[in-house]
Amino acid sequence: MSLARLWESLLPIGREDPAGGYRRYAFTQAEMACRSWFRAAAAERDLAVSADRNANLWAWWDPPAGDCAPGAIVTGSHLDSVPDGGAFDGPLGVASGFAAIDLLRERGRVPARAVAVAAFCEEEGARFGLACLGSRLLTGAQDPAAARALRDGAGVTLAEAMTAAGYDPALIGPDEDLLGGIGAFVELHVEQGRALAEPPGAAIGIAAGIWPHGRWRFEFTGQADHAGTARLAGRRDPMLPFAATALAARECAGSLGTLATFGKIAAEPGGVNAISSSVRAWLDARAPDQDGLDLTVIRIHAAAEHAARRHGVALSVAPESLTPPVGFDPELRDRIAAVLGAAGIDAPVLATGAGHDAGVLAARMPTAMLFVRNPSGVSHAPAEHAEPADCELGVIALAAVLEDLACR
Ligand SMILES: [Zn+2]
Repeated sequence: MSLARLWESLLPIGREDPAGGYRRYAFTQAEMACRSWFRAAAAERDLAVSADRNANLWAWWDPPAGDCAPGAIVTGSHLDSVPDGGAFDGPLGVASGFAAIDLLRERGRVPARAVAVAAFCEEEGARFGLACLGSRLLTGAQDPAAARALRDGAGVTLAEAMTAAGYDPALIGPDEDLLGGIGAFVELHVEQGRALAEPPGAAIGIAAGIWPHGRWRFEFTGQADHAGTARLAGRRDPMLPFAATALAARECAGSLGTLATFGKIAAEPGGVNAISSSVRAWLDARAPDQDGLDLTVIRIHAAAEHAARRHGVALSVAPESLTPPVGFDPELRDRIAAVLGAAGIDAPVLATGAGHDAGVLAARMPTAMLFVRNPSGVSHAPAEHAEPADCELGVIALAAVLEDLACR
C-alpha cells in the first residue's frame, strides 16, 4: 500500500526534539517542508494542487472533463503539530487521503464528483494560540483582522509570518466559493484516547461528536517578597491558591465525569528565592455536555475564590476560547457506518474530547470523522502511535467511504 511510502517520506520532517517529538509550527521551515511534501505527493498523482486564501492546501482528483456532479467530497486533516507532538495527529489523515485515492485508482474507480485532500493551516494553534485557525478563517468563524494581528511567542504577527512564507495576509477570510462547492468533509484521525483499544476493541471508529470545551485564564495576584525573610504568617503567596485550585480541578472533574487540566502556568517574576507577585494559569476543561462543562468551571472558579480569599490574594478569571458541542451529521454518520459494515469493518461510534477542523467545518457542511486505534491512547506527545495494520485498514475504510460518496 502506498501509505507506507508516503509516511516514510514525511516522518523525518520537523522531528527536532531529542525524544522524537515534532515541532511543525505554521509557516516555520519544518511546516513549509511539510507543505512541499504535500505538493510533491499531489504532483506525483497528477492531482491539481492549490492553496486557498487562508493558506490551507488542497489537492484535487477531478472527474473526467464535462462530467462532474456538484458537491465535492473532501478528506484530509492537518500537518502542523503541538510542541514536541506525535507523528500521527494530523498527518495520518492527510497521508491516508492520498493513499485512499491510490487505492480507488488501482481498482479502476473514476470519481463522479471532485474529491479533494486538504491540509488545514495552524490546526493546533501552537504558533499563534488559536486552534483550527485555517478552518475558522475559511468558514468565517474567525475575524480576519484579529487573526492578522495574532502574535507568536517571538512577537511575529500572523500577517508577517504569512508574508514571509509567500502568502498574502490581506486575502484571509471566509471563502464562500470554495465552501459552496463542497458536499461533505470526512476527516480521518488517530484516536486521542483508548476507547478503541479497550475491549472488545476495534481498529476503526466513527465519531459521534466533539465534547464542548474551552480555555480559561486564572490570574492570582499576591505580594512579592523575600523567600528567606518574609514570615509565613504575613505572606500573600499566589502560588498557594493556585496549587489548591489545581487540586480542586482534579477532584471536581473526577466527581462530575468531566476533564479539567492546568497545563500551563506563568509565575512572575519567577525567582527561586522569592514569593511570586502573580501566578497566571490556564484551565482547559471539557465535558460530554454543556451543563457538565459549565458546572465544572463554576466549581473550579468557586474553589479558586475560596483559596484566594484564604491567602489574601486577588483573583480574576477570564475565558479565552469556548467551543460548543459538535454533533456530526447523523445521516452521513449512518451512511458511513453502513458502508463500513458492508465492507466487513467493525467501527463503533464514539465521542471525543479533542477539537478538530471537522468540528469547525461541521457548522457549514455534512461532516464526519473516522478514528484509527491508538494502543496507548497517548497523543500530543512522542509516544503517540498507531499500528501499521490499523493505519492500512484506515485507508481501506476511507477509500470505501470516498467510493460510496464520490464514485457513483
Ligand atoms: Zn489533529
